[in-house]
Amino acid sequence: MPKSAKLSGIKSLRCYTIPEAAGVTGVSDRTIRAWIKQGLTAMSDERPTLVRGDALISYIQRQRQGRKSRLSPDEFYCLKCRAARKPAGGLVDCELDGTRAKLSAICETCDTIMHKPIAHERVAILNDVFDVTLRSEAPETLKVGS
Ligand SMILES: [Zn+2]
Repeated sequence: MPKSAKLSGIKSLRCYTIPEAAGVTGVSDRTIRAWIKQGLTAMSDERPTLVRGDALISYIQRQRQGRKSRLSPDEFYCLKCRAARKPAGGLVDCELDGTRAKLSAICETCDTIMHKPIAHERVAILNDVFDVTLRSEAPETLKVGS
């Protein structure tokens, strides 16, 4: 497993050389070079190669999102187990909020509450996967028959 990169020290308006980018994110030079090959935007006609801070930030954020979306539809990420877990008993609460839906469930391993945001249009397929209880914080905005 590669070490996870740190976002906090990156200045979005700065340009970093590869060793500087490695230093500020806490990964190796080799990792930064691999990221550039995999799509991190770099000014590679410059010598030395420079990477903009904002490109670095958005690359790491995209990478993190990719990691999250690798959960299968019936899994949540449990912060306590630090692993993908299934909801205990297949029971899930779904809270609708405007265009988003938020799922909550209990980790089957450690009983911690887990959350997962999903796109509204995916709520319909949830019932195939889970035993869903729908909740809405603002029922007056859900007008039937409009
Ligand atoms: Zn857990």
